[in-house]
Amino acid sequence: MNQTNIADKQKNRFLKSIARRTTIELEKLRQIPESPPALNYFYDAMESVFVRNEPERFLNPDSTKKKMIGVYCMMVPEELIDAAGAVSVRLCAGCFESSQIGEDRIPKDVCPLVKSAMGFTIQKGLAAVDLCDVVIIPTTCDAKRKLGEELSAFKNVWMIEVPHIKDAEFSRRIWIDQLYGLKSKIEKYAGNGRAKTKTSSRYLGAAIKKTAVAQWELRQLLSIRQSKSPVIWGRQAVVVENAYAYTRTEDWAENLAQLNIQLAEKVKNNNAVCSENCPRIFIAGSPVIFPNTKIQSLVEEMGGILVADESCAGDRYLYDPIGNPENSLAGQMTGIASRYLAPCICPAFTPNDDRLFMIKRMVADFAADGVLYHVLKGCVIYDFELHRVEKILNRAKIPVLRIETDYNPEDVEQLRTRIEAFIEMLKSQKKKKRSDSLCQPIS
Ligand code: SF4
Ligand code: SF4
Repeated sequence: MNQTNIADKQKNRFLKSIARRTTIELEKLRQIPESPPALNYFYDAMESVFVRNEPERFLNPDSTKKKMIGVYCMMVPEELIDAAGAVSVRLCAGCFESSQIGEDRIPKDVCPLVKSAMGFTIQKGLAAVDLCDVVIIPTTCDAKRKLGEELSAFKNVWMIEVPHIKDAEFSRRIWIDQLYGLKSKIEKYAGNGRAKTKTSSRYLGAAIKKTAVAQWELRQLLSIRQSKSPVIWGRQAVVVENAYAYTRTEDWAENLAQLNIQLAEKVKNNNAVCSENCPRIFIAGSPVIFPNTKIQSLVEEMGGILVADESCAGDRYLYDPIGNPENSLAGQMTGIASRYLAPCICPAFTPNDDRLFMIKRMVADFAADGVLYHVLKGCVIYDFELHRVEKILNRAKIPVLRIETDYNPEDVEQLRTRIEAFIEMLKSQKKKKRSDSLCQPIS
């Protein structure tokens, strides 16, 4: 057998294995009884990327194909790509098969997200990755920084320098300079006829508005998830949010609007997915990325409900709007620069007290009973901040369970035992609180 045949066989095995795993995960989600039909759009988007290998159906459906640009962090302003007439695809990856292949070039102890991203590039075949000749990587953590160097053997890599001290004047200057530089690179590359005229404030304004609509819908979903009687499972909501990476912003927002209507109806009819006694769990820590659904599925299989998270591919993805920029290009660029820097609570920044306030506020707003602190093996920066998060949550009497894992399914049973024990403990705590409140003397 010649080398080409071997490579083709390897590629087919790889794609089949991802398709099989994704189909199982999506099937489990589709079988959840009484699910709102609007969820199907998000499941179909995931299926088109990982099973059918036809990402353009959801990302780039127009007959005139736009150029696709891969981004490796939520800190890349997608509005700049959209305004230049290109399509952005978030390529932060959550796939076990590709994380194994990534180890060919990335040290074993690096986080699986980066190994998985590398693996998808080394092992060609997944169209969502292959269609992006250019990728943008911010220098957030060490793993992302070095990923850029490794990927440059395969792709045209544009690094953007992220200042790690957010509040300093020099940081704002560096960041805005970086974004202006990025904007011109994107324009030159993506132009589609607009390159000569440069991205005008009209295009940028339209892109900002489009994202704002998606953000508004996400906030609606979050407020629905705050309800005392949950009407959507957390594992369903995570897929909805993760799917933003692989869909057109306007289509995602439109379908989320439909979902929000269907969920609001469920709230009205008191059609909860679980009892109010179900422990409400908040996931903090490293991002949770499809098709790795290990943590959220275990929480809910073991009798809890995931009510919110701080994941940059989840509830935090679109949380912060661009504050009312003026109509001028300069005003819009300033608005974008501050939206993508100031509110970001990724532990890549220091000091990062904003993250503590945000977690504390979200835990209270979503009435979480416990926090599962998710550390992807090798993700040192999230692990570093664990004790500070624990300290503020201990003060609020919120139990925290630290779970360290990667994308390998082998530790599922071990994690199940720990998560089950945590949820049982939260259940008895909730029960005690209920009986204590019943025994309160009438004043
Ligand atoms: S965890 Fe931080 S560095 Fe990693 S993708 Fe999310 S925002 Fe970017
Ligand atoms: S922040 Fe953590 S999960 Fe994200 S790329 Fe860096 S090490 Fe990996």
